[in-house]
Amino acid sequence: MALSNKYNAADSEKKWQQFWDQEGIYAFDEQSDKETFSIDTPPPTVSGKLHIGHVFSYTQAEIVARYQRMLGKNVMYPFGFDDNGLPTEILTEREKGIKGSQMPRAEFVKNCEEVSEKYRAQFKDLWQSLGFSCAWESAYSTISEKSQRISQRSFLDLLERDKVKYNQSPTLWCTKCQTSFAQAEVDDVNKGTIFNYLNFKSADGEDIPIATTRPELLPGCAAMFIHPENEKYKHLIGQDATVPLFGHKVKILADEKADPEKGTGIVMCCTFGDVTDIDWWREHELEMNVCFSLEGIMNERAGEFEGLTIDEARTAIIAKLKEENIIFKQEDLAAETRVVNTHERCGTPVEYLPTKQWFIKVVEHKEELLAQGEKVNWFPSFMGKRYRDWVENLGWDWAISRQRYFGVPIPVWYAPDGTVVPASPEQLPVNPLVDKPLDCKGYDPETLIPESDVLDTWATSSSTPELNSRWGEEDELPQIRPMSMRPQAHDIIRTWAFYTIVKSYFHFNDVPWKDAVISGHVIKKDQQVEAQKVEGKAFARKSKISKSKDGDRFSPLAMIANHGADQIRYWASSGTLGTDIAFDEDEIEGSSKLLTKLWNSTRFAEGFLENFDASAPMPTLTAVDKWVLTRFDEVIKAYHKAFEKYEFFPARNALEQFFWSDFCDNYIEMVKHRLYGDESAEDAKAARWTLYKIQLGIIKLFAPYMPHICEEIYQDVFREREGDKSVHISLLPSVPAEAICETGKKAGALLLELVTLVRTYKSKNNYSMKLAVETLSVEASEEDQVLINLIVEDLCGVCKIAELAKVAVAEPWEGSNDRFKLAVKMDEDALLRTELVADIKKVILPIKQANGLKSKSPVKAIVVQADDQYLELLQAEPGQLKAAARSEEVHFNQEGLEYTEAREGLAITLIIE
Ligand SMILES: [Zn+2]
Repeated sequence: MALSNKYNAADSEKKWQQFWDQEGIYAFDEQSDKETFSIDTPPPTVSGKLHIGHVFSYTQAEIVARYQRMLGKNVMYPFGFDDNGLPTEILTEREKGIKGSQMPRAEFVKNCEEVSEKYRAQFKDLWQSLGFSCAWESAYSTISEKSQRISQRSFLDLLERDKVKYNQSPTLWCTKCQTSFAQAEVDDVNKGTIFNYLNFKSADGEDIPIATTRPELLPGCAAMFIHPENEKYKHLIGQDATVPLFGHKVKILADEKADPEKGTGIVMCCTFGDVTDIDWWREHELEMNVCFSLEGIMNERAGEFEGLTIDEARTAIIAKLKEENIIFKQEDLAAETRVVNTHERCGTPVEYLPTKQWFIKVVEHKEELLAQGEKVNWFPSFMGKRYRDWVENLGWDWAISRQRYFGVPIPVWYAPDGTVVPASPEQLPVNPLVDKPLDCKGYDPETLIPESDVLDTWATSSSTPELNSRWGEEDELPQIRPMSMRPQAHDIIRTWAFYTIVKSYFHFNDVPWKDAVISGHVIKKDQQVEAQKVEGKAFARKSKISKSKDGDRFSPLAMIANHGADQIRYWASSGTLGTDIAFDEDEIEGSSKLLTKLWNSTRFAEGFLENFDASAPMPTLTAVDKWVLTRFDEVIKAYHKAFEKYEFFPARNALEQFFWSDFCDNYIEMVKHRLYGDESAEDAKAARWTLYKIQLGIIKLFAPYMPHICEEIYQDVFREREGDKSVHISLLPSVPAEAICETGKKAGALLLELVTLVRTYKSKNNYSMKLAVETLSVEASEEDQVLINLIVEDLCGVCKIAELAKVAVAEPWEGSNDRFKLAVKMDEDALLRTELVADIKKVILPIKQANGLKSKSPVKAIVVQADDQYLELLQAEPGQLKAAARSEEVHFNQEGLEYTEAREGLAITLIIE
């Protein structure tokens, strides 16, 4: 089968996607004893439409999967969807116009399932359109029955190992989402506010000034603190103070955390304004004076302000404090100077409310978790520091219970005395709201209170290695743990990477994967790339492209329709690992030239391979063949070396450079004279063999990046000879050792240099490149003379040189260089012939015009009348005459025709039909 004139991406992509699917090309073979490479694919959150950022990071891992498969490994490239949890709830509420809190739980869950089903289909559609080589048959969803079972199994295992705890303690709380959340879900936001200076009163009536941004917490005041060395106020330590407006008395205590330089030097401690308040509450065993509800409404402690929201209460309390002259000063705090902790999902400021929650104990295991991080290979390596920084600064245990609906139920019940009654392994998955424990631990089942909270979505998605290996299931694949590779973006190192490491450590005392491969984000073109130097979440949040802000501008399906999947993939592979990339649609366009060149270079090669026998032994190669094969070997090695570090961009660059320059521009040009010459000659066989090996090798090396066009080319041109069902399960190319030759490499480079010099000579003298050279005289070092001997035939063939003289050059051409002295003697006959043809051309056009033809119109024959001095010369190369007249035939000196003179002794006529 021959390649068509032009590659049609739209048809080809669909065709091969179906082929791969039908033939099961990417299936993971569970029985195989080949080396396994397993990928812990990030299950995307089902939270709305897709954007180009998804394409960017997922494509990079996809390229690695294809590369590993072509190393001959048994690749497990699963796919999953993270569709449980708050993001799906929010999406469902938005899409269906419903509220989870205002309908029966089962009905809401049903709605969530419908919505996530719809978005799962969209994701799958996109990945298939991009030609992803996932094993779709084993795709999981984090809300499926099996996932729930494994997630609950994980919880029960942690419970048994005493790695989880259930207690009443201050929790990060969102009054809007009505749930607790984890430290990793806190987003720092700059926000201005007012600093209020106001007075408490001592028992003696002395003013005790404090400064606060949150006067609405006054009813929750539990103590005041002064630094023990604070000369100005330390006399107050030990006394009582009266809280303004609310009138309750609190103790004035000493603590070194009360900075004398900050505010007034005296601090009020409330339930709870910040993490310091919580530390003081613990250390000084203060009362818990909660003054608003979980919904963020002021409670009875707030007296006349009861029933107001937190924000309303702040305004009203400030007004009242001013009215009573208790506030004596106010300062504006600019947004740049003040950071507020907010809930990342909704932007609501964090509150710290005491609730009963489940936590995974991470703070007491910091050292071990740091050590686990050291065992993982981070790519790029500096990402390991991000993990380390996060773990070193952990202040909270990992809160995993959520007061939500669409999630994996926490598999426990509570006895009247507070004892936790866990589900039994054999009854998973379990819903405590519906089911009863198999083992009631001696309690009356009717008295057991079911847990109504669900697990946070991270508590399940952190078990992806367990989900992929089907931990505890009948068809478990323990051999894939630890997995080979975890691809993920840098902003979720503190969540997903960290949590996964926690789980694997507690369950298996092992790392979840050998390599963590961290991608960047796609940022908008106008964003300063310099900002990438800023480490951490703040940057990633600020600028990454997201659906909510950028709408359909970057809709991946629209872009695939416009450009083709291979082009989008090629763009995605231009990122450097761990670094954000600016999105520029023009760059996607750039790869279309490469696709066209790949197609056309194969079409060219195909023209010479009709009778090629791929199984025949390697012919005797010339130095030039060895040169290009040795270069190819270097490129293949560089390609592997880059992929070992997951650096797909440098791998691609080396390959692309070789393809355009060494192979297309140079090698093919150097061997055209052999390809067009006698097919049975040994050097023609060598050129064909080299052409075949490299063209096929290039297609294979590009295949991980551009799977569709490479498959099309492979199937049409190579499959019959190669035998592999698909290029994607063939092995990457290698060059036979006999073809690798350092001398050949040097000789090839020398040939290129000489050809360039001769070509420059011809072009400076306005000679056609095809014009023959009678003698090329070359003066070179002895060492170079040896190399020249290796490439004489190709040099003469390429430059049309009749004789190469290796002599001392008396009058070198000025284009000679330090290495070579050259003298060029053009073929006089050829020069004269060129002149004659030029004169003939001048009269062809008027004749054609007189006959109503255009200059390029073909004619039947050109007839030349020439005297003896010209006849022989023109008869020697009739091709030039045919080309000049666009005629099928050439005749000489025919009688009875009317000729037009071109120069003295030379005339022509045209036979039109
Ligand atoms: Zn929230």
